Amino acid sequence: MLVDTHTHLNAPEFDEDRDDVIQRALDAGVERMVVIGFDVDTSRMAIDLASRYEGIFAVVGIHPCYVQHAQEGHLADIERLLSHPKVVGVGETGIDLHWDKSTYRLQDRFFRKHIELGQRFNLPVIVHDREAHDEVLSILDTEQASDMSVVLHCFTGDLAMAEQAITAGYFIGFGGIATFKNSNLGDVIAEVPADHLLIETDAPYLAPAPFRGRRNEPAYVVKTAEAIAQIRGLSLNELAQITTQNAQRVFKHL
Ligand SMILES: [Zn+2]
Repeated sequence: MLVDTHTHLNAPEFDEDRDDVIQRALDAGVERMVVIGFDVDTSRMAIDLASRYEGIFAVVGIHPCYVQHAQEGHLADIERLLSHPKVVGVGETGIDLHWDKSTYRLQDRFFRKHIELGQRFNLPVIVHDREAHDEVLSILDTEQASDMSVVLHCFTGDLAMAEQAITAGYFIGFGGIATFKNSNLGDVIAEVPADHLLIETDAPYLAPAPFRGRRNEPAYVVKTAEAIAQIRGLSLNELAQITTQNAQRVFKHL
């Protein structure tokens, strides 16, 4: 059994064939999928999917690239959603300095608020970091996030950053990039201690090889698992067992 710990089945890219996509994942042994919100509407949709499928769970929050569209009441909406029995985390949140640096202050404020919600509701926080490694680690540190579960999703940092994250107790999620020949992630994937390792797709984005450039979907997490198993000298089964156990430690009730 595999867990796709980060997927956006709530994205419009799946409007035409969402149920087929979910069935393909289940058929491929991806028995658990964690659907991550971008904003209030997509967070509600994640919960809706989680209510319909036993193997689907929801994470609710406002993505750093969506903060400029969010109103003050939206954080209160997210907070209300956290009590739903199939909500297993807060996010995705974090800092993105690739798309829009002008909203940095707002991103910072929302990120801290999500961390605080995770601490208050005893839920993990799912962190998006795009070209903002130092900012993300520093905010997590000042908010004392080492006391809670933190997932650095779609990790793209170097070994030094990974070591800092591991010391703080954070989990590291690897997606399709792990299968790219030119990813530079090989040493990080090889060195991350087994008990910090998670796998994900971030579907519909970042499809693993050999599907690179196409729409990603949860079934493809098998490709990422195979690539990571190979780098670490493990069988697919061993890798599946390790990462599934970790996912169940991060996301309770999975
Ligand atoms: Zn994502």
